[in-house]
Amino acid sequence: MGSLAKLVWLRLEGDEWASRMVSFKCKGELNGVQCWNRKGHGKVDLAKATLESCNLAFLAWSMESAERWKKDYGDGAARYRMEQIFKPFLGTRLKAGETMPVLGREWIGDGDLLRTTPLAMAKWLSDPDQEQLLSLCKRLMGGVFDGWIVKGSDWWFKSGTAPVPGDPGVTSAWVAGSNGERSVVLHLPRGRGKAEGLARMKEILLLKKK
Ligand SMILES: [Zn+2]
Repeated sequence: MGSLAKLVWLRLEGDEWASRMVSFKCKGELNGVQCWNRKGHGKVDLAKATLESCNLAFLAWSMESAERWKKDYGDGAARYRMEQIFKPFLGTRLKAGETMPVLGREWIGDGDLLRTTPLAMAKWLSDPDQEQLLSLCKRLMGGVFDGWIVKGSDWWFKSGTAPVPGDPGVTSAWVAGSNGERSVVLHLPRGRGKAEGLARMKEILLLKKK
């Protein structure tokens, strides 16, 4: 699911991170994991990390959260908490166990541990359960589209590039977004990039404004 996994983290911990006013300095590499921006994103807060899709900020904050849950509730409960939220995207791919898995690149959407389909993602975003997530996303990304400020628009979009399951050399792009009332998910065919995905979403946005 590529960077759409960041939406799942925002669902799980976004409000907590926002209230803690988290920040991170992305130098392009953390614990052997590289950010897609090899030069690094520099210093990011939650909004900037979400808008610029900094993998390492999300990885660092999720690792901090995991440590905090383990301390506060114990290892088993920490795992349960994470599993409940990630369940729609895990299938049966998470190895059975009683303890928190080690969080690495696959937990921020790289590889094929976390998977989704356009329909499943749209369903997930439209669930009444996601009201808080949608309002957080609107706060963090609303009215900004592909680097443009879209005045008077509540729409936000999150793009991502993900490996095709079973064919890790090939990627395809995702774009998901919402205006709080409607959610849209676009998954491009294999080999097609996020620039095209964003261009198509821009058309939808312009159609909305007519
Ligand atoms: Zn980064």
